[in-house]
Amino acid sequence: MNRRGFLHRSASLAAIGGVAGLGRSCGYALADEKGGVTFAGYAGGDVRLSRKDIASFARGLEGAVLHPGDNGYDHARSIWNASIDRRPKLIARPASPEDMWRTVKFASENGVSLSIRGGGHNHNGYAVSDSGMMMDLSQMRAGDVSLHDKSAVVEPGMTFAQFDGLTHKAGLAATGAIVSMVGLPGYTLGGGIGWLHRKFGAGCDNLIGADIVTASGDLVRANARENEDLLWALRGGGGNFGAAARLHYRLHELDSVYAGLIFYSLEDLDRVGRFLDGYLDGAPDDLNVWMLHRMAPPSPLLEKSVHGKPVLILAVTWTGGQSEGERITAPLLKAAVPLGASLKRRSYPEWQSALDAAWGDGFCNEWVGGYLNAYDADVRNVISTFVNAASSPFSDFKVALLGGEFSRAGAADAAFGHRDAKYAYVIQTRWLKTEEARRHLAWTYEFHRALRAIDAGGVYVNFIGKEEPPSRVADAYEPERLKRLRAIKSSIDPDNFFNQNANIKPT
Ligand SMILES: Cc1cc2nc3c(=O)[nH]c(=O)nc-3n(C[C@H](O)[C@H](O)[C@H](O)COP(=O)(O)OP(=O)(O)OC[C@H]3O[C@@H](n4cnc5c(N)ncnc54)[C@H](O)[C@@H]3O)c2cc1C
Repeated sequence: MNRRGFLHRSASLAAIGGVAGLGRSCGYALADEKGGVTFAGYAGGDVRLSRKDIASFARGLEGAVLHPGDNGYDHARSIWNASIDRRPKLIARPASPEDMWRTVKFASENGVSLSIRGGGHNHNGYAVSDSGMMMDLSQMRAGDVSLHDKSAVVEPGMTFAQFDGLTHKAGLAATGAIVSMVGLPGYTLGGGIGWLHRKFGAGCDNLIGADIVTASGDLVRANARENEDLLWALRGGGGNFGAAARLHYRLHELDSVYAGLIFYSLEDLDRVGRFLDGYLDGAPDDLNVWMLHRMAPPSPLLEKSVHGKPVLILAVTWTGGQSEGERITAPLLKAAVPLGASLKRRSYPEWQSALDAAWGDGFCNEWVGGYLNAYDADVRNVISTFVNAASSPFSDFKVALLGGEFSRAGAADAAFGHRDAKYAYVIQTRWLKTEEARRHLAWTYEFHRALRAIDAGGVYVNFIGKEEPPSRVADAYEPERLKRLRAIKSSIDPDNFFNQNANIKPT
């Protein structure tokens, strides 16, 4: 990708309107709706478009357009969460920012509901519109690293595995998810925590620029010099403000980490938890710890007799020097008698993908979360009660230590709020496609109710549950942040065209 193009190209899309596309469209399956196709409208109701107009749109794209029945249609509408089974009336697969612009313009001018698929990992399925249009960015995965100013410009179809592939060669990294298949745009625009947020800030804090296609058909560049307000909103406000055609990240020097898992029996939760909650209070930024509570996976680190039994797993990342890392993490190995441990020096991409095998697609999932001020006896009691009675052996309850650089971003820096919480938590319920959802959802939301009674309030926007009411989105932001987000939304998308997301409504 031409990086200079991203940084210096005119922000006007009038010029892009004149770019000729190659017009590649797959075989049609529109015969069921003679003369036209009925789409869900973005403002509610239905919208009918003629086949001629749809064909003309498809011809104008360099990328492909898929219709129900086309080869690849079912694959394109399938996302990580197998509970989501939605059927867009049309899937556009842009090959360029110009294609993205044409797609947004076609949908908005015709009043059609449009969803955006980045990495397709949002558990709520925002990526897939039911009966509207879907813009699938999976064909846009180019990127470029600048060693000079330690930054990367990438297209929005990229996953963290691909991003790592690009940045690691240069000995650089930015905060990413703890599973490498997650898409960059949904993660970053929602906020982004992982193995590195205590050292380098949230994912969105490292977003230093973006090209955004707006609902009115403009290409707007947001960075520290232009549209600063928009950049602020993109740092945590999600996909509410437009479609990100390119993302520009600040990178940091990081080649390898001292990292791994420490397994304890869940019976030791009280002992280990009491120690941890205190020890982590003064932890250096280089130390990052997540607590995972679940049934033990069939890990070679564990005796076979432990497999399937409730365990507490500490996922530990140390980004500093080796000997100091060994010293700081040693007490974590002695909080009780560990069942197994795997701390060692490894490349950052190896660590970022270490949990991938447990989090592939094909399962049904429900996630719901919040923040905690302490990992105290009350919290541990709730964890112990619910994890021991988990409805599925694949489910996990995760608690991530916040603080460090993450907590230094102020209200003026990013829309992503609640920076003073000590921990973020998420209940991750996961079950087989062949099972009934009801008992898993009941376990999830009973667990959540018990935590909500003692948690710190608020929620990370990417951990809002599918079954929660739309009003829950407001809990993701402190009142001042929400007010500013609504004002920006009102000025850039007053009709709420971009609403297939954790929706911030215009005022
Ligand atoms: C296995 C797994 C592990 C995860 N680990 C972490 C983690 O460690 N830390 C963390 O913070 N989160 C984590 N998440 C949550 C994840 O960050 C969110 O689900 C995120 O939305 C996924 O991004 P995506 O691009 O894959 O999502 P998609 O489902 O493609 O999109 C999600 C949302 O982003 C919007 N969007 C996508 N692309 C664009 C774009 N180009 N422009 C504007 N809006 C866009 C969509 O409209 C939609 O609302 C994880 C999720 C999964 C499934």
